[in-house]
Amino acid sequence: MSRRGGTRVRPTRKPIVVVAGEDRNDRLSLRILLEDLCPDMRGRIVEISDPVRLRQATGANLAARAETLARKVRARAVRDDTTVACVFVHEDLDAVDDDRYPIVRLQVEKALETALGRAHYALAVAEIESWLLLFPDALTAFCGSWSVPARHRGRDTGKLADPKQVLMKEVSGSSRRYRETDAPDVLDRVVTLGLTAAPLGRNRSYERLREDAARCCAEHLRERSQ
Ligand SMILES: [Zn+2]
Repeated sequence: MSRRGGTRVRPTRKPIVVVAGEDRNDRLSLRILLEDLCPDMRGRIVEISDPVRLRQATGANLAARAETLARKVRARAVRDDTTVACVFVHEDLDAVDDDRYPIVRLQVEKALETALGRAHYALAVAEIESWLLLFPDALTAFCGSWSVPARHRGRDTGKLADPKQVLMKEVSGSSRRYRETDAPDVLDRVVTLGLTAAPLGRNRSYERLREDAARCCAEHLRERSQ
């Protein structure tokens, strides 16, 4: 298999931060947010694109999938001649935020910690698009004709069953309709506008990511830099 193309590897011996998740746009989105939330991660994030499928697994099955991912993470560090500072794994819950979300999130994060030592599970509710709706100004900065309707502003976007449809039908229009590849570019605008710490409304999964990035930055990156 060629090593060229795919994830970009920067020559560095600093311990790497691995971002895993099935979808390229989601991995890139996570990377953009993490590099802003924790500047120490810049130049240290590498991506692995293998399917993770942890959300629907439980028990021994979950442990086995976490271990498979851990092997790939360790192999990546060996290949890059470095060590692993920490790991962020993204998946969409594909369901609205309810009592199940924290249970599933914690269950998978525990399995990841058992397999990897340090890991964070970025489980987006309902999907990563719900995070974009927290930043109406960034959506308009990305495309001047886009506007988040008042009824979706300042809300809990984790309660939206289909945020992608909201973006496609209510925020954007037929002249320039939202598509999944726009997510990283919109988040770039969020960063440029200095809004990562100032979402309009709330979303528990986005808040969780901010907390995880802060903890990772303060604890996990430092441990491995000493
Ligand atoms: Zn960490």
